[in-house]
Amino acid sequence: MAFLFKSPPHPLSSPHSQRKEHHHIGTMATNLKIRTAEEAVARIAYLSSDVIVSVQPAQSIESEFSSHLHRYAGRKDKSLVAAGESGVPEIQTIRHNADPLLSVFTPVRNGRLVSVTTTSSILVSSVPHLYRLANLPVVIHVSLQPAHYPDYSSITSIRNSGFTFLQSETLQEAQDIALTAHALAIKSGKGVIHFFDAGSSAQDNHIEFEDVEVVKDILNLDVVKAFQRSRIGGTSIYADDGRIASITEAPTLPITMEGVETASAVPVDQIAAEAPSKASSVGSSGRESSTDSNTKASVSSATTVDSATVRAVTSDDVYNFVSGIWAQLKQSVGRQYTPFEYSGPANAENALFIFGSDVGAFAQAIDAAKSNEIFAKAGVVTARLYRPWLGSKLIETIPNSIKRIAVLEQIRRKTTKWGPLLLDLLTTLKAGPGGGVETIVGHQLGYIAPETVRQALRGILQNLKSEKPIQNLEVGNADGPTESLDAYSLSQPKVETAYMKILDQIFGKRLYLANALHSQNAGISTTIASNPEFGFGSLLARKEHRQRFIAEVEQAKKSMEFITEAPKSWLSKWSPSAGEEIADEIIARLQTDGSPLSRDLLSKQGLFRKESSWLVGSDAWAYDLGNSGVHHVIASGENVNMLIIDSTPYSERAAADAERRKKDIGLYSMNYGNTYVASVAVYSSYTQVLQAMIEADQFNGPSVIVAYLPYFKENDSPLTTLQETKKAVDLGYWPLYRWNPDNEDRGEPNFSLDSERIKNELKDFLARDNHLTQLMKKHPEFSSNLSEDYGSEVRALQKRQAKDAYSQMLEGILGAPLTILFASDNGNAETLSKRLGNRGRARGLKTLVMAMEDYPIEDLPNEENVVILTSTAGQGEFPQNGHSFWNAIKDNTELDLASVNFSIFALGDSHYWPRKEDKHYYNKPGKDLDRVMGNLGGKRLADIGLGDDQDPDGFQTGYQNWEPLIWQALGVDKVEGLPEEPPPITNEDIKLASNYLRGTIQEGLDDPSTGAISAPDQQLTKFHGTYMQDDRDLRDERKAQGLEPAYSFMIRCRLPGGVATPKQWIQMDDVSNAFGNETMKLTTRQTFQFHGVVKGKLKKAMQGINKSLMTTIAACGDVNRNVMCSSLPTASEYHREVYACSQKISDHLLPSTTAYHEIWLKDENDKKIQVAGDAVQDFEPLYGPTYLPRKFKITIAIPPHNDTDVYAHDVGLIAIKGKDGHLVGFNLLAGGGMGVTHNNKKTYPRTGSMFGFVSTKQVHIACEKVMLVQRDHGDRKNRKHARLKYTIDDMGIDVFRGKVEELWGQKFEKARPFKFQSNIDTFGWQKDEHGLNHFTFFIENGRIEDTADFPMKTGLREIAKVMKGEFRLTGNQHLIASNITDEQLPQIKDMMAKYKLDNVQFSGLRLSSSACVAFPTCGLAMAESERYLPELITKLEGVIEENGMRQDSIVMRMTGCPNGCARPWLAEVAFVGKAYGAYNMYLGGGYHGQRLNKLYRSSIKEEEILEIMKPLLKRYSQEREEGEHFGDFCIRIGMIKETTEGKTFHDDVAEEESDEE
Ligand code: SF4
Repeated sequence: MAFLFKSPPHPLSSPHSQRKEHHHIGTMATNLKIRTAEEAVARIAYLSSDVIVSVQPAQSIESEFSSHLHRYAGRKDKSLVAAGESGVPEIQTIRHNADPLLSVFTPVRNGRLVSVTTTSSILVSSVPHLYRLANLPVVIHVSLQPAHYPDYSSITSIRNSGFTFLQSETLQEAQDIALTAHALAIKSGKGVIHFFDAGSSAQDNHIEFEDVEVVKDILNLDVVKAFQRSRIGGTSIYADDGRIASITEAPTLPITMEGVETASAVPVDQIAAEAPSKASSVGSSGRESSTDSNTKASVSSATTVDSATVRAVTSDDVYNFVSGIWAQLKQSVGRQYTPFEYSGPANAENALFIFGSDVGAFAQAIDAAKSNEIFAKAGVVTARLYRPWLGSKLIETIPNSIKRIAVLEQIRRKTTKWGPLLLDLLTTLKAGPGGGVETIVGHQLGYIAPETVRQALRGILQNLKSEKPIQNLEVGNADGPTESLDAYSLSQPKVETAYMKILDQIFGKRLYLANALHSQNAGISTTIASNPEFGFGSLLARKEHRQRFIAEVEQAKKSMEFITEAPKSWLSKWSPSAGEEIADEIIARLQTDGSPLSRDLLSKQGLFRKESSWLVGSDAWAYDLGNSGVHHVIASGENVNMLIIDSTPYSERAAADAERRKKDIGLYSMNYGNTYVASVAVYSSYTQVLQAMIEADQFNGPSVIVAYLPYFKENDSPLTTLQETKKAVDLGYWPLYRWNPDNEDRGEPNFSLDSERIKNELKDFLARDNHLTQLMKKHPEFSSNLSEDYGSEVRALQKRQAKDAYSQMLEGILGAPLTILFASDNGNAETLSKRLGNRGRARGLKTLVMAMEDYPIEDLPNEENVVILTSTAGQGEFPQNGHSFWNAIKDNTELDLASVNFSIFALGDSHYWPRKEDKHYYNKPGKDLDRVMGNLGGKRLADIGLGDDQDPDGFQTGYQNWEPLIWQALGVDKVEGLPEEPPPITNEDIKLASNYLRGTIQEGLDDPSTGAISAPDQQLTKFHGTYMQDDRDLRDERKAQGLEPAYSFMIRCRLPGGVATPKQWIQMDDVSNAFGNETMKLTTRQTFQFHGVVKGKLKKAMQGINKSLMTTIAACGDVNRNVMCSSLPTASEYHREVYACSQKISDHLLPSTTAYHEIWLKDENDKKIQVAGDAVQDFEPLYGPTYLPRKFKITIAIPPHNDTDVYAHDVGLIAIKGKDGHLVGFNLLAGGGMGVTHNNKKTYPRTGSMFGFVSTKQVHIACEKVMLVQRDHGDRKNRKHARLKYTIDDMGIDVFRGKVEELWGQKFEKARPFKFQSNIDTFGWQKDEHGLNHFTFFIENGRIEDTADFPMKTGLREIAKVMKGEFRLTGNQHLIASNITDEQLPQIKDMMAKYKLDNVQFSGLRLSSSACVAFPTCGLAMAESERYLPELITKLEGVIEENGMRQDSIVMRMTGCPNGCARPWLAEVAFVGKAYGAYNMYLGGGYHGQRLNKLYRSSIKEEEILEIMKPLLKRYSQEREEGEHFGDFCIRIGMIKETTEGKTFHDDVAEEESDEE
């Protein structure tokens, strides 16, 4: 254990040695431990608190205290007093501008010891809180700021707040006084502020750790416990509850110095009840209870102890307590403290009373002074106990010989003529008894550089001793040293600039930001500059400024001072509301004119524009202290726009202390009536933000936009912000809406809801004035959402109801109960559980089957028999629907399962983690659960069963051994006459029963009770081009709220060859805005894909697409999909010929069911297109009623471009040009395909096999015949083995081709020669043979969206409005603006530049990359893809640049799962998702898509990816041969073996599985 110094103080060797000793400069050993005052204080605060409010510049920037606090808490160090089980105090991090002292009220009122570590920057603005906290035992440790030259006015200006103030000067004192502060707060029941200038002790020798035993003694843990048992009343932090610290004493016993007696705090009304005659005087004096008043508020007592007295704590009491504490301290550690400290000769005549830094430096200089120096032998006085001000103690402290005192106050913000300390001294020494002090002279202490200390002392003493001393003389440099950076300036998270950028985009030069952070506000601190009052003031000033400017312009119009004529004529066209163009023209004319008058006007040129004035604030405005400013602005009725950014993450909203609840500024402003209000979230709806800002600008009056931008740390990635935003908006915590009071005049509702769910408070507001009814009328689709709005805690209830309903159902059934719980991601565990339930029931058991998450865990100890089946997700985690159960049980020590029999069956894949160190993930959830339930006393019905995908029959192998053991254990293994089980329903059954793809889709769409459709219909809608998905970012949260997943639909268009007209582009854009999530994905198969279309909008979206003459039929499903074609910008004529073939093939293979039109395009009123329902029996000449076994894909490539990856599809057609330059036919490849299942070696990617040449005329027939042979011979039993690639490999290429030729009646000709050069796009401008222009845009991963940085979607739409050519979507998810005439070229180029769409200056790596959608919409995704690949590339670009490879193209692809939508197996380097954050890495693919790659590493995370890629890229740059591509290089240097064909994909992988031992 570490000890405090026990040695007595060193003998005094010179008058000021005590002060120097405390600094220990240069005299102590160096192996001591504590280095800074903040560390010393943090340690004491940690030991002495339940809760520490750590005030920090930003969440991600530690303060000098917090870095220590977080370290101790991270190590789980125990505090001496923390009452919680762990003994670890709670550290609450609060940004310094977020009203930090609000956080103190709740815990302290609940009997928790609270301390605050902060800089002085928060004190003045916290005054209202300080008055209320003064009578609570709170300790605030304050490090004075700015660091090198602190301003003590932050202390003097709060000196009357009722707090006790203690000051420390040295490192050692910081430790001792911190401890004093805590002990004093506990004993006196009053708040204590301990302040110090950390800079003063920066050079002190390091000190020992505190002695914990001493701390314990001094704190007095009995008193601590008594406080912790108490609960203090008072619920409001907005009104003074009249509480004062008071003391109960027995009149016979005086208060003792040991502080045995302690004060407690009671509300004044209690005292009032007890002593009515004194009530009013005590109540009113409550706040001053710590000033030097000798009024003892003794009141006669009426409590149970007859003789006890309750009275307010007085300054004498404080003195007695603190003296007691210091006496104890002296005894334990030998150091002595008094309320005032004097150092210097006992016979000194002159003294300095210093209230500032540098006390040690002054003392040293005096000691070192020669005897003839004017300041020699001066004394130095400082206040240790600054408040209460104990004048009598000061008189006791200073020697009688002192005649003159110079008061040095380091106060930078001076508000009164005389310094507060000077007044204290004057009152004490002039008015008080005794003392021969004749002269007291105030000085303003500025910054004293070390080399100027002597000079300063000389000046002070000369003044002091002069006949007529000057009061308020300035000493030192008043401005202080120049500080390079203010750590406490407001920091903004990177993402926060998003809203600023949008403001800038909309208003451009018209934008006037009144309080922009980081702007120069003439020396005003950023904290003040960001206040609403400050900004508002500056806006009003700006307004006046403009009025004056208007007058100046009027003058100028008549002036003769211009040199040229133009300014005057333009000025005469100007009016205060003139448009941008006129302002631009005037400015241009003034610039050419150059006269002094012009220059003068130009210096205010911003005022020519009708400005859009904005005040931008943070959520700090929503707390008490900022809110009044907001109120002020709204109440003014001025035409001012406020943008208030709220950054509390959704996930943290519940954790927030109730006292810290922010005001709902939106709601508050709506209540006001005269204000335009909008609630927006840029990461949810960009267009809504635009709309709100434009409307706010147009509104003539105050506008308030509350804007959501959640983050945990300022450096969070945009993805975190996005996910938090989505949750908040989806669940109604942050509804999107607009409220426009002007709408009423137009006969429109004031309120428009732009998201779907709202919180109760908003609903109540709307309900009051009929707005809700209006809203429901306008948007009937919202009604079901609005009835289950945010905030209803229904989940627990639901669980209970579900379980009870089950139990009821089982009543009356005999037999033993068996509860079967499952956790399942892919359905296997669920299916097994349900089957087990049926089988149990057949055996006479009372079986109950539930998902683990639906089970109320409190029932578990009452179960008789429980079996749990769980599969394994991610890195050995429970599947999603097992999480809550596992979290509830894993650390539970209270559940008693002694009377429960249980067994677990786990499902997993023993090869999923090939590395030895990861092996334990195999079936980990099941094994963990087995262990925990055993530990809780459960008895095993049977040992855990392990299902392994690698066993001969997969998990069934293990299962078949386990299930009989359960029946045995329950005594039902010998039951006879069990019924036969029906076979499971397959996709084939669904297709067959669907009546040509109708199923019950229509009924499902009409069912408003759910956002979903039935499982069989989910299979069928794929044939119609749409999949049901749910937003995986929201799954957990919605589950927790008792809501079904956020279901929505993905719609994929069918767009042969990827060609769309500009008009179609706009129509697609409309569809995405009106029905989808405001974005479009250009897919790897050259078509548009929409996400986030909710069921209620699905039909409308389909109709929108069909109106634009596109369709979605057969865009997904077991049919021929969209037919692709190279986009070929350089040869338009030839492209047209080939593209025509893609259309022909597409049309030829289209299914002919009429179900599509019937379901999607039927309009209830339009009988004409209604197909006569059942009367029509559909007929599918090509497909038949069960369509194909699996999807079927056709693509066309035009050499030398393999941009469509011709080897990757079921049929790949390579266009062959004749000698005349026209298309003659195609080489046909068959059997390509990408989809794979991890660790299932029976699945593999495959490149197409060459069948031979076929003519243009016959190509669609040849394709048809290949498809028909697959239709009849493909595997319809196992969907994982159903693609054409397996049929061909199973039959043999020759046999398959033979069957095709037989059906076709023709033979393939010998393949014609061709040559590919690459499979990537050529970005930028190109000209074709007719001189038309084509521009290939870089669309990262095909995502068309607007962001604050890059409004790409808007830009493309604007271009589409004027463009006369066509758009071509490429197979690499990029876009070409095609066929642009030279005439239109400048216009298009201008627009591209305006929207930054002309930028193709990206690294070769980025340009050659592509990623699939994956999270959040794809249900199969195991890892992020589209949202992550760009980040990964950024991390690699450094190495790329360093090694001079910026231009080099390396094909890198990523997918979220092995389904392989972005064709990863053909990339030179690929990453395929394995678990969240983990990827399999593949190397060695062919540069132009001709060769498959091979597994290099399994399940690696970013760190390992970078570790492999960085040196490899470097090596490639150094060792490659001329023209050698990256994939070929990896093979040549032996990193990876070449994959020669699909069947050998799994052979010779670099990372063999390690043997199990
Ligand atoms: S590759 Fe997998 S994760 Fe990516 S979009 Fe396709 S199915 Fe989804």
